[in-house]
Amino acid sequence: MQTNVFPIKPHDCLKSSQEIRRWYDENYHLLSRAGLWLKGEEPNTMESALFYQAELRFLVCRLSTYRDVSVSISHPLVAQIAQEVKGAFTDFAFLPPPKDLGIMTAAHIPLWSGTTTKEPPCAFDVLGISNSFVLELLNLPKLLHFSGIPLFKNERMMRQDIPFIVLGGASSAVTSVLHGPTKEQGFGDHCGLVDAVFIGEGEYSIKQFLEIVKKGKSAGLRKADILRACHGKVDGFYEPDKYEHRYEMTIQSRPEMWVGTGKTQGGLIEISPKEPYVSYPVKSATVYDLDPVRTLESGPIWYETESIGTGSLQISNGCPCFCSFCAESWEKKPYRERSLSKLLEALKAAKAQQGLDTVNLFSFNFNTHTELYPMILSFYREMGSVSLKSQRFDLLSADRFLVEVQQIIGKTTVSCGMEGISERLRRYLHKNLTEEQIYKACEFLFEKGIRELKIFLICTGLEQSEDFSEFARFAKRLDDLKRMMDSNVRMIFSLTPLYYPPHTPLQFHECLTAIEDKKKIGREVERICKFHGMEFRESASYEEIWLTQLLAMGDRRLTPALIRSSITEGFVYYHAVSKELLRNWRIYLTDLGLAEENYFCAKGKEYVFPWDDIDPGVSKKFLWEEYGRSIHFDEREYCLGRPRIEAQCLGCGACPTPAHIRKLIHHTVNQPFLKEEILRIAERKRNKLVLRVVVEIESSLRLVPKRFVGVAAARALMLAIPEVIPYYQSLSAHMRNFAEEAAFADFTHGINVYHLVFLSEDKSKDLLKGEFLSLRANHIQKYCRGFRIREFVSDSGDMPDVHGILYKVRFAKEFTESFLRQKLGEYLHANYVRHTLLKRGGQTVFKVDTKHKKNAVVFYASICKANQREEPVTEFTLFMMVSKRFHMQEFLEACYGFERRKEIVCTQIETLGYYRKNQHGARCAVCNESISEALLFGQPFGENQCLMCSIDRGKISC
Ligand code: SF4
Ligand code: SF4
Repeated sequence: MQTNVFPIKPHDCLKSSQEIRRWYDENYHLLSRAGLWLKGEEPNTMESALFYQAELRFLVCRLSTYRDVSVSISHPLVAQIAQEVKGAFTDFAFLPPPKDLGIMTAAHIPLWSGTTTKEPPCAFDVLGISNSFVLELLNLPKLLHFSGIPLFKNERMMRQDIPFIVLGGASSAVTSVLHGPTKEQGFGDHCGLVDAVFIGEGEYSIKQFLEIVKKGKSAGLRKADILRACHGKVDGFYEPDKYEHRYEMTIQSRPEMWVGTGKTQGGLIEISPKEPYVSYPVKSATVYDLDPVRTLESGPIWYETESIGTGSLQISNGCPCFCSFCAESWEKKPYRERSLSKLLEALKAAKAQQGLDTVNLFSFNFNTHTELYPMILSFYREMGSVSLKSQRFDLLSADRFLVEVQQIIGKTTVSCGMEGISERLRRYLHKNLTEEQIYKACEFLFEKGIRELKIFLICTGLEQSEDFSEFARFAKRLDDLKRMMDSNVRMIFSLTPLYYPPHTPLQFHECLTAIEDKKKIGREVERICKFHGMEFRESASYEEIWLTQLLAMGDRRLTPALIRSSITEGFVYYHAVSKELLRNWRIYLTDLGLAEENYFCAKGKEYVFPWDDIDPGVSKKFLWEEYGRSIHFDEREYCLGRPRIEAQCLGCGACPTPAHIRKLIHHTVNQPFLKEEILRIAERKRNKLVLRVVVEIESSLRLVPKRFVGVAAARALMLAIPEVIPYYQSLSAHMRNFAEEAAFADFTHGINVYHLVFLSEDKSKDLLKGEFLSLRANHIQKYCRGFRIREFVSDSGDMPDVHGILYKVRFAKEFTESFLRQKLGEYLHANYVRHTLLKRGGQTVFKVDTKHKKNAVVFYASICKANQREEPVTEFTLFMMVSKRFHMQEFLEACYGFERRKEIVCTQIETLGYYRKNQHGARCAVCNESISEALLFGQPFGENQCLMCSIDRGKISC
């Protein structure tokens, strides 16, 4: 029976990068956002050519789309760590956006193709999956299957041509549903969607693993032997199939038919290691000292507007608090900090490598860091902007000055977790937060004129009338405070149903919010918020919580359901879990003889969890005791030293030595700086020097956001002249801002102009002098890929106002002159552009009536025969001088029709120059008509010639 249990052969995928690249070059226009996510070659990615000479090829894979993870630091950090292994090559792969999945599978393109190399996943030695949250796991079977990879470890292990499939990341300790199906279900030896899991932090373990694979590969070892060699040598290395999970009762159904017997299986009764050489339980990897390991410095600059120019520096890891619902808290203990001196080194490197103007202090709560104040001061001095995200209300309430500092550095939006709507529920959640503390913090924030305050709430399912009354009283107090302080703050309460994560005290709790949709509670909280003029949002649906909870609590017996959902039914998780999906999962459970109640019920002290073979650092006994406290609405102070609190070690077991414990309980935050110091920096920042950079973008970068090239130019400048790094502040503007406002893609290449802002000081003025930069132009150019810097102008003032833009549009061969003439005529007609049609020297000229030029979107156009030697794929080119109001995409749609997406996306459009109005009333030396435009940037006209005569005379070449 077992041989045919999963008749799932890997999808037949293309196996050569040449074929995949050819397909991409011919079909990128079919993909979402013109296939930018699959383009690769972002700055700080490795050159394709290095793939072939690498000793070890590592593909960093995401279960979400390029866009969704563009601000994430985990996958670039994994690549950065891997690149520290000598001879290692890295590339990235992503979940394709919804529309592209079908296109790629139909064309036999592996879904996880390397974006830069276009190599199929099977050409790599290791696929390292970075998993951030539980629902992403829904996509794993499909991504493996449609990448041409066998689903199960036993099949993969037999094949040397299949890479290792390993998984790590924030959610890696909650992956039991990947490690089945089980023998008890009648699935024989089929098991394991991944070969191994890295539990905990990867800074050392990734390198340890890759070194072993590299050595094993060069020695010609079998895959199983390489994995075996990892035990005891790779921190947090968990090979799931080396542990037996035994269940209470087995089911006799025929799984290949997906039909259950109606019986319900019991729970997990025992876990035992199968081999003597494996650790049991596997201790999660923890990097106790953050200083020797690098935070993210050389992350790629992704082609996504949201992340361009913004980077994150991890200032600390773990959280010193004990919130009973927070997986990060319990899985990442103890709290550790990176020192300011290391952070400053990292900041400098990251700023130059990624062209950063904004840095986000990445941490669970930035306001716990010992060196917070000197850090803010020095980061603010160094960067255009410092982004502070998560902070605790209780710490904020004791630090009015921090609120003031946030105001000075321009932070106008604050987010904080209140979680429980009453003090009773906050004690249940172990939030250590009183109403007075929240109120005090709000008072400080309102006083400092904060614009937006977002407060996170959790619906626990335990809310009672006295909790609602307390919340209503509190909301009224806040409302009164707002009025009293004359604050216009926008207040948003965001409510999310409680998720009971593994490895936390609440793992023992009945999963109330999954058992029942607690709509009523949400409605009452909403009513109270709205009554007091506050906004209300719900941040996760019942269906999402239900499925998250099931996958988190689920054991190995759920793997068939995961495969069924992903491959048989074809579900892909993007952002939503529908009611229908929930219904389907209930059917899968029934067919497998499993019951959701068994996963969602309350668990006793001796309950065997599917993750009991993993030790995240805090003992199960401690979690049980904390659970007891939670359900009695009792809490203890967390162990971080704070003013007026005598912090004590709670004995969670996470600190490795007494010295660590002492450090935590005696923790202090350094004295703040004087307000004058930060005001002096703010003042200094007002003194700006604007460097204008005129660039020529190559056609290969025409699809990327235009802002990307400006940030890449700033990066090139900082890498070539490191002395300018402390002075760079931001990319303030660029010539094509007007096109981005138009909310559609600007697919042009050619000339663009960027304004880079620096602090204006004697040294920066010297460094950024035009002559100085010209001498270094070749060196700067080495760091530019896909664009050329034509000119630097320092202290250039504002971006000049553009009157006209000159485009050269190359049409594919099949478009004849008469077709173009007709379409252009129709377009001009539809846009009320009065013109006369002329034939001059083989060109068709659309001469716009002078009187109507003022309001016209097109000032001039001519169709010329292309130079076949230079442009073999083009028969005719179109020169157009247009106004800023001209929409290129609308024009192309008018030319080709909406359905001709290929032509719309693939047409080569070059910006030749930008022009201002000619104020001097000069006349053309050739035709004696007045010359209406004068050059700002780009192609000059012939001397004393108008545009038309310049084109006629080949001054602007056809
Ligand atoms: S304060 Fe609480 S919720 Fe926030 S990270 Fe720490 S433990 Fe988690
Ligand atoms: S061992 Fe003690 S000091 Fe260390 S994290 Fe746990 S409770 Fe805090």
